[in-house]
Amino acid sequence: MKVLVATEKPFAKSAVEGIRRIVEEVGYELALLEKYTDKSELLAAVADADALIIRSDKVTAEVVAAAPKLKIVVRAGAGYDNVDLAACTEKGIVVMNTPGQNSNAVAELAIGMMIFMARNQFTPGTGSEIHGKTVGIHAYGNVGRLVGRYGKAMGMNVLAYDPFVADKGVFAADGVTAVDSVEELYVKSDYVSLHIPATEQTKRSIGYDLLSKMPKGATLVNTARKEVIDEEGLARVLEERSDLKYITDIAADSQAALNEKFGKRVFATAKKMGAETGEANVNAGLAAARQIVDFIRNGNRKFQVNK
Ligand code: NAD
Repeated sequence: MKVLVATEKPFAKSAVEGIRRIVEEVGYELALLEKYTDKSELLAAVADADALIIRSDKVTAEVVAAAPKLKIVVRAGAGYDNVDLAACTEKGIVVMNTPGQNSNAVAELAIGMMIFMARNQFTPGTGSEIHGKTVGIHAYGNVGRLVGRYGKAMGMNVLAYDPFVADKGVFAADGVTAVDSVEELYVKSDYVSLHIPATEQTKRSIGYDLLSKMPKGATLVNTARKEVIDEEGLARVLEERSDLKYITDIAADSQAALNEKFGKRVFATAKKMGAETGEANVNAGLAAARQIVDFIRNGNRKFQVNK
């Protein structure tokens, strides 16, 4: 049984060592493809792989077609919009993610981003504090809940919007106020922290209409995906409202133009770094390896996302 770890952006060394231990302990073979620069390297590497662990790497229909033995793909992370689920399902390949394993790293970054923007990107000048401000959590999943918890610890007023949370008691139990509409969230929040997945429904859903409703001096914090932003709408509202700010962990396609036009009111990390901590790498990487072993040995499909 061959498990391939294919990571264009590699895991921390300690995570790879942990994955190797788990895989080899049960007699499977581990293959590593790191820092690959061309799709052809991935296509060649998957040819004899039974299982695949990836990060933000793209598993397209072409990759699936090049992997005749593949039984399972585990995306070490939360979002799986980089995997062609239909192509995998068609070939009977199980796709999983590792929910919750990197949430803390992302939540800490989101809070850090709020402070970074409140303090003029750590350059001279009078900033503001996040204490006493309102943060709106847009999507109350694993990351959103932690941002809420940390926001409260910082003395923020926490609102949340997530129509898919079945147990509405969760919000009150966390001391968070659930709002009834996405518009209400944007109207009332000094900071909106975005945690929606990129799906057909959410792509380009955050744009002019919502952002123009935000209060004076508000900031949008995006540690989710660039695809959920309507970039033209964002640029238009930043143009019209010189008080609004945008910070993102996933640079917009038009980031260079945004930077040039809006200066310190916008910021993008050089490379997606939300889950880029040693701890998150180990948590997600080891969970991925364990899920593969548990699936192949026991048929456990608990984290399957292409059901
Ligand atoms: P999660 O699956 O735990 O939570 C997602 C939440 O979004 C769920 O509660 C769901 O009900 C809600 N949701 C879905 N569609 C919605 C909609 N239209 N409106 C409101 N809520 C909606 O995921 P998570 O671990 O919290 O991660 C959230 C997203 O953050 C991921 O999908 C991923 O794209 C992104 N992410 C980025 C990084 C990074 O490195 N920057 C790391 C991890 C996750």
